[in-house]
Amino acid sequence: MTILLILVACGALAYFRARLWMWSAILIGIALGLYALAPAAGDHTVIVVAIVAFLSALLSIAPLRRAILTPPLFALFKRMLPPLSATEREALEAGSVGWDGELFSGDPQWRKLLALPAPALTTAEQAFLDGPVEQLCAMLDDWQIIEHDKDLPPAVWQFLKEERFFGMIIPPEYGGLGFSALAHSAVIMKLASRSITAAVTAMVPNSLGPAELLLRYGTAQQKDYYLPRLARGEEVPCFALTGPEAGSDAASLPDLGVVCKGMFEGKEIVGIRLNWEKRYITLGPVATLLGLAFKLNDPEHLLGDKVELGITLALIPTNTPGISIGRRHVPLDIPFQVGPNWGKDVFIPLDYLIGGAEHAGQGWRMLMECLGVGRSISLPALSTGAGKLACRGVGAYARIRRQFRVPVGTMEGVEEPLARIAGLTYQMDAARVLTCAAVDRGEKPSVLSAIVKYNLTERMRLVLNDAMDVAGGAAICLGPRNYLGRPYQAIPIGITVEGANILTRTLIIFGQGAIRSHPYVLKEMRAVADPDPKSGLQQFDRAFFAHVGLTISTAVRALWLGLSGTFFLCVPGGPSRRILQRTTRRCNAFALTADLAMLVLGGNLKRKEKLSGRLADILANLYLISAMVKQFEERGRPLDELPLLEWGCAESLRGIDSAFVGFFANLPNRPIAWLLRTLTFPLGIRPQGASDRLGHRVATLLMAPSALRDRLTAGIYLPTSTEEALGRIDDALPKVVAAEEVEKKLRTARKEKKIFAADDEEARREAVAAGVISPAEAEMVSAANAARREVIRVDDFPADYGRSLPLP
Ligand SMILES: Cc1cc2nc3c(=O)[nH]c(=O)nc-3n(C[C@H](O)[C@H](O)[C@H](O)COP(=O)(O)OP(=O)(O)OC[C@H]3O[C@@H](n4cnc5c(N)ncnc54)[C@H](O)[C@@H]3O)c2cc1C
Repeated sequence: MTILLILVACGALAYFRARLWMWSAILIGIALGLYALAPAAGDHTVIVVAIVAFLSALLSIAPLRRAILTPPLFALFKRMLPPLSATEREALEAGSVGWDGELFSGDPQWRKLLALPAPALTTAEQAFLDGPVEQLCAMLDDWQIIEHDKDLPPAVWQFLKEERFFGMIIPPEYGGLGFSALAHSAVIMKLASRSITAAVTAMVPNSLGPAELLLRYGTAQQKDYYLPRLARGEEVPCFALTGPEAGSDAASLPDLGVVCKGMFEGKEIVGIRLNWEKRYITLGPVATLLGLAFKLNDPEHLLGDKVELGITLALIPTNTPGISIGRRHVPLDIPFQVGPNWGKDVFIPLDYLIGGAEHAGQGWRMLMECLGVGRSISLPALSTGAGKLACRGVGAYARIRRQFRVPVGTMEGVEEPLARIAGLTYQMDAARVLTCAAVDRGEKPSVLSAIVKYNLTERMRLVLNDAMDVAGGAAICLGPRNYLGRPYQAIPIGITVEGANILTRTLIIFGQGAIRSHPYVLKEMRAVADPDPKSGLQQFDRAFFAHVGLTISTAVRALWLGLSGTFFLCVPGGPSRRILQRTTRRCNAFALTADLAMLVLGGNLKRKEKLSGRLADILANLYLISAMVKQFEERGRPLDELPLLEWGCAESLRGIDSAFVGFFANLPNRPIAWLLRTLTFPLGIRPQGASDRLGHRVATLLMAPSALRDRLTAGIYLPTSTEEALGRIDDALPKVVAAEEVEKKLRTARKEKKIFAADDEEARREAVAAGVISPAEAEMVSAANAARREVIRVDDFPADYGRSLPLP
């Protein structure tokens, strides 16, 4: 009885994450109470009281704990923790922790998330989207750009520069637009729905590159000189990190700068002699200002004691003697400017280093700190733009295009991909906005940015693949009428750049998150690395015992939540209540799994990329659910949006549960795998996605004009001219929908033998004459048919297309 009571008390204390002194007080109180009430219960109560009192004292009296328990644990951790390279340490320390920290805690405070203010564009930002961005989109003829010009036309380059598209992140005091991350993202999203070439061209100067680096680290002189020139487009920047030998492992770059004396502008100065070879550099072929990453050595000690200073960043005018700007790459036929460059014995003054000589050797940290912001915005925006384009175009096409006498979208087989197109786009947009909002609050989200980069580009891939399937031949035959083929071609570009996706999923998201976003791991690592052993031990003691408490708590909560079905979990109410309860349980299971995985795999987790990738999938889906719920609540819980929310969350929960199944099945330590599975899913795991019925509702949303369809696709470029592919589709959809009722009347009249003509037009005339339909209704059907014919038409070219001139 005593033991049972103590176990229940322990469970409750663990569940509510009580502090150590509360544990001690309550347990000793219970034991003493029991002893007082029933002294005759015998000696065992005395023994239990003694054990509890001893353990409680040992754990909660800090000096005692630090004298007896902590030192051997501290020594063990010192041996166990893998040594980190300088670049790994800088990557880990970079950026900030936001909602990812809540997810790692296992008990996310949903109210905190929901209380964050809803992000919104300023009037000036909205005016820019409605003005210059709309104007630019109208100027872009993607077929002409890709097939003929192989570049943006000069007028577009000029417009980009004049309207300060290259200065979106540069503050107004330097002549830039000073946009929020949300506005920056909205611009890229809209451009991406029109032309990937234009979107990439506009996004690169605003992403990780010279402007961002100057803003954070530049000297006053560098900022005053370069930022206005960059904002006005007088300088076209590029940033060169990648080379033939340093791709994903960018920190291994062999490019070398040596500090030495040399002649510059007729004078002998201390500078840097550089040799490098770079490739894949976006805007490189047209850049006037080259941001360059290289390793810096100082063999003559002209800067200080150190010889190998490490990765360093410089800004170098591309007309500096010794620089060669190579030719162009052709990235899957999407003709944004990208190419190699190299330098031979290029001598630059120390002033060219970003931030001056005192920033020599700090390049990797600078890059890592800036990476989070750019990666949060550009590719997520581009991916969402492509998703929205597919929703708008293919959803309507599925209603307009008929086979077997019905719209193809009404067939169950087609419904499946349509639901994915809509549901995944809903996920993408919510995550895009939530992440931009974090950046706008001043966060530098290192882990969340990796999550959105990987997950949104992958969802773009899924959505565009589905869109291609639904549109069939119309998406395959390239030409001005085809708005899907080029975004489809461009998919691998987004997948590969800014951290290739396989690496981002399997090495970065969880690998970095487990340390960076975990409430205690980084603190423990810092403590172990502290050169002062006394302060190290104290920090370790605090972090370690809090960590143990967290793990015990998540284990107890996991079992209780698994058995109780989460119905009692206290989360915000409303339509998303059950979603939040289920998600909280997965979050807790994730926190426990992550902890035990780190404990049993230690440094090996880095190599166990398949396991780490599954944990990354869990974390990412937890984030996506958070984003969807937040967006739904911010919009005032619109009921028409509920199917999208439910579909998106159901699919994310399925992703989470499938990843758990895979993780438990493959964790090499089988007893721990069994323990984890039993604690987190005591009644078994059954990954279930959205039901067919829900999928039907979501697919249907795409196939008719509605406020929800407009909301889901908001922010993309919608041409009004029926000379444009999307304009034609938007024109046809309401006509086709309106004509369906009339067509039903015609079918019934035919069955009832009131009309006989085989030819449709003739049949309509007969129907008007027989009073089955009105002349206006006949006209509606004719107009719908004409619009439908236009939408399903594809382009064709001469037999010697590509060899004959002029090209069509
Ligand atoms: C069109 C384009 C534009 C670009 N623009 C720029 C630019 O402006 N500036 C710039 O500096 N760079 C730029 N890049 C370079 C880009 O960032 C690199 O291509 C990218 O980092 C990957 O390098 P890689 O292509 O050499 O692939 P590799 O490094 O050869 O990788 C091959 C594959 O192995 C995977 N992989 C590698 N290591 C691991 C690991 N440890 N665990 C799991 N998987 C791993 C990768 O995910 C990838 O799938 C651009 C590239 C392209 C294609």
